[in-house]
Amino acid sequence: NTQDEIQQLSPKGITFNDVGGLEDVKKQVRRKIINPFQNKRALFSRFKRKAGGGVLMYGPPGCGKTMLARALASECNAQFVNVNAADILDQFVGNAEKRIKQLFEDARNNRPVVLFFDEVEALAQKRQFESSAKVNTTVSALLTEMDGFQEDNEGVLFLGATNVPWSLDSAFRRPGRFDRTIFVPPPDRVARKFILARLLQDRPVEKGLDTKPIIENSSGFSGADLSALVDTAIDIAIEESSSSEDLRPLSNEHFKEAFYEVKSTVGEWLGQAR
Ligand code: ATP
Repeated sequence: NTQDEIQQLSPKGITFNDVGGLEDVKKQVRRKIINPFQNKRALFSRFKRKAGGGVLMYGPPGCGKTMLARALASECNAQFVNVNAADILDQFVGNAEKRIKQLFEDARNNRPVVLFFDEVEALAQKRQFESSAKVNTTVSALLTEMDGFQEDNEGVLFLGATNVPWSLDSAFRRPGRFDRTIFVPPPDRVARKFILARLLQDRPVEKGLDTKPIIENSSGFSGADLSALVDTAIDIAIEESSSSEDLRPLSNEHFKEAFYEVKSTVGEWLGQAR
């Protein structure tokens, strides 16, 4: 029941300050979404500019799209609904249609609300000549609800995230739908420094640990890759430790070893995107 989901998933206090780097993305999101949604709502209504519609975030996996969506909802004091494509898709033609309708109805009753479609391509896939009836009805139901002809979608924001923007049906790019597109890049050096500092927080770290080489060597790593790197370094430290009283704190040596095991997943994505 989406109503329950809305209650459970209301923002838990993750904000833009928790998101490392991505300054340009944050700036765009502030201008395109937060201002119309919250701070300047009155101005927008004076200019008869509607606050709503959708934004598509795309980029390599693990670079903070989900995190940004959550932060955005709390910055806007909006409810956050994480729409899981698997819960909507159904083997029976017509069921997905009903669920999409229900989802939007619940959302309109809970505005302001951010509807976050992770891996949106699953629901918004390109319709092709040989597409099944199921794909076609799901896509048209979603398009219809986003347009909100019968019911106004003011105060309902759609955020889509995808690693494969080219597989979305182009109808989703029209005004009022996902009409704005934002690229969420892998973290730069400053962002990696921030993410690494958070990952190491409250963990036993050797006094002399130098994070510079870790930051340099992780160029091209996503946030999720960095997290995997730290986990691996920790596993190695645990292996070397005999007990929690006599532990080996994380050291550069542990990271050096971890780099042999953990590689960037972003390069793979770039190859696919070319
Ligand atoms: P996917 O495409 O796989 O769904 P995503 O782009 O939505 O990935 P997230 O789930 O937001 O990525 O990020 C994965 C994890 O990496 C987060 O839980 C977070 O800990 C970390 N992370 C990624 N990018 C950042 C960032 N810019 N600042 C802080 N943490 C980050």
